[in-house]
Amino acid sequence: MLLPIVHYNDPILRKTGAKVDVFDAALRALARDMIETMRAAPGIGLAAQQVGKAMQLCVVDVSRADDGFDWELDGNHPPLELIMPMVIVNPEVVVHPVEKETIDEGCLSFPGIRGDVARRDAITAKYKDADGVPHELVCNGMFARCVQHEVDHLNGVLFIDRMSKKARAPIEKKIRELAARTGGGKA
Ligand SMILES: [Zn+2]
Repeated sequence: MLLPIVHYNDPILRKTGAKVDVFDAALRALARDMIETMRAAPGIGLAAQQVGKAMQLCVVDVSRADDGFDWELDGNHPPLELIMPMVIVNPEVVVHPVEKETIDEGCLSFPGIRGDVARRDAITAKYKDADGVPHELVCNGMFARCVQHEVDHLNGVLFIDRMSKKARAPIEKKIRELAARTGGGKA
């Protein structure tokens, strides 16, 4: 089932998600709907806040955004098509002390708005899947960027917060107009 995507500046986007304690059929159904919604949008990631739920849950599918990134899941290197789409619950991300890369990002809650965001190029993420099974993911490139963007959402952080003043200036007007349309308050 397709879910409506919440746009900036709906207050739900600023809420920190509650930790998921119950891994039941309802959680799996929500994750399935979020995957369907992400693919239809289309997008490579979607956080629960973006469908109006402040929970530590996001979905990712970077199989069509392969920029040559590398990954390791639970110490193995499974084929990407086996691990995508990925359901990420209660994540804890540690960024590796590597160089930051600046790349143009978009967000399904900011239709038509893109801007440069600097992020570290490699992460380790500990999380649970939709069945509550714990995993450890190490990845870089677009994979790491996407996970960082989605996990930010789970903590009420948006990509515009991570932009430099210089990157944000050319899109400031569009951001204000979007917030005014959404009726969620001031940008
Ligand atoms: Zn986003």
